[in-house]
Amino acid sequence: MPVPLIDPHGRTVRDLRISITDRCNFRCTYCMPHEGMQWLPRSDILSYEEIERVARVCVERYGFGSIRLTGGEPTVRAHLPVLVGRLAALGVDLSMTTNGATLAASAGDLRRAGLGRVNISLDSLRSDRFAKITGRDALDKVLAGIDAALAAGFAPVKINCVVVRGVNHDEVLDLAELGRNKGIEIRFIEWMPLDGDGQWSQSQVVPAGEILAEVGRRWPLVAVARGAAPAERFAYADGRGHVGIIGSVTEPFCGSCDRVRLTAEGQLRNCLFAVREADLRQVLRGGGSDDDLAMAIEAEVGRKWAGHNIGNVHFIRPARSMSQIGG
Ligand code: SAM
Ligand code: SF4
Repeated sequence: MPVPLIDPHGRTVRDLRISITDRCNFRCTYCMPHEGMQWLPRSDILSYEEIERVARVCVERYGFGSIRLTGGEPTVRAHLPVLVGRLAALGVDLSMTTNGATLAASAGDLRRAGLGRVNISLDSLRSDRFAKITGRDALDKVLAGIDAALAAGFAPVKINCVVVRGVNHDEVLDLAELGRNKGIEIRFIEWMPLDGDGQWSQSQVVPAGEILAEVGRRWPLVAVARGAAPAERFAYADGRGHVGIIGSVTEPFCGSCDRVRLTAEGQLRNCLFAVREADLRQVLRGGGSDDDLAMAIEAEVGRKWAGHNIGNVHFIRPARSMSQIGG
């Protein structure tokens, strides 16, 4: 019988986010350094067997209920359906966050392999702006990826949109309308200080309250119960679906945080903003047993903070950018 993993603040940790690669075919300005990243050597990256082993310990020993694959860009990793199949066999809620650019080709295979849900990132509906933000002229590909995800039967398909003042804040209503028309929940996300160039500034964060007010003025909204999810959710009063707002900066939801993160090279992070990590790869490759892995996981969860300190003098920016953490 799994024993719940409870952190020092009484939160049950049951959600594992796995960055399966640090590589990415995009270079989003709010996430990665302008000049790009130095990719890790392939031998540094956990194999599918190693990822599965960590996931299995989390599920079988501690009853983790959900696993999300992320990156970098998870779809650039070869033979992704193989990993999906192995993790799906653990019987968890299995999802993926992707930029969607290659989903048109892979959505069906991933769905058949057992992937349950996808979140697709989309920050602009204007081709020129999309290319400026992501470094790729790929808006049409991402829109095709969204349609392919819907056709493949992922339930639900969601869209993530990072709103940055002076970059795309004027597209909130257009993106919300796309979500309404396609029957997709769009989640607007506050820009967090995890970009690659240290360009983040509080003044460019569009507060969740401002986004909510703008959408609500156009289409009246009704609040929906939230649970441990980071998004505050609202239903459109006219019955045309839902919209979510993730106010990580102005309305932190650390009190209900139930997750840990595994980086592509096997470092366990107990917070998005953690400044230390537990080296699970060393345990995996050093002949460690599942008990050793479990001990390392428990110790790191035992150090989980009550919450991040963005906006506070005590806040320390992590050395990693979001593309190396996974979101
Ligand atoms: N490449 C995939 C993608 O873009 O969906 C997965 C990895 S990406 C790091 C995961 C999520 O983090 C995306 O939805 C992305 O928009 C979001 N993200 C990246 N940098 C961010 C930042 N500085 N603040 C808030 N969200 C960010
Ligand atoms: Fe790549 Fe995703 Fe970061 Fe964009 S947000 S650079 S697609 S990892």
